[in-house]
Amino acid sequence: MKIEKIDPFRQVELVGAIILAYQQTFGQAPWNEGYKCPICNLTLSLNERQTCCPDCLNKGKSVLMVKYWPTSKVLSDFYQEMSKPDSLCLVAKGDEEILGFSWGYQISINPEIDAHLEAPGLHKLVSGNYFYLDEVAVLPQYQGKGIGRNLIKQLFENQPYKRIILRTLKESQMSNLIISMAGEIILPISRDRVIMSVFY
Ligand SMILES: [Zn+2]
Repeated sequence: MKIEKIDPFRQVELVGAIILAYQQTFGQAPWNEGYKCPICNLTLSLNERQTCCPDCLNKGKSVLMVKYWPTSKVLSDFYQEMSKPDSLCLVAKGDEEILGFSWGYQISINPEIDAHLEAPGLHKLVSGNYFYLDEVAVLPQYQGKGIGRNLIKQLFENQPYKRIILRTLKESQMSNLIISMAGEIILPISRDRVIMSVFY
């Protein structure tokens, strides 16, 4: 396994592989964002492969499940994020496939960022420029081997800011990892998520 910095505007063949890894990772546990019901918003893992929403079926309605992370959505988010200042994308490569990735970019904390991160009041706590750790993912079958930790460390080492900010789930693997790097929770937000910061 090796970790490489990629240029998403030149290595388009890798972008396709990253999008697949994104869908595979977040489509399975613990996120299970594989499919969703457009009526009741039930979400199911990619492993479930149900065509119709089971909850709606119980109420006598057949509703087709849709992809939680359609390729077009992941691609457009990815390119928008890669167009931000000091964007950086790393991939963990096995012999043939992409095993995981991490990416981030610079943000200036202001009320607009509060809204973007769903973190009301963040700009009253911190200010200035931060590197935002946006996404880290490792395919389920390669998790637990330290690849995620490596992707995060190398991302931090290759970005120019001293201060890093991120959003994650309270008491998740990610939050434990950031605490082990002397990071801290600076703001609890909705749905059990927290904004954390770390000096690097
Ligand atoms: Zn439903």
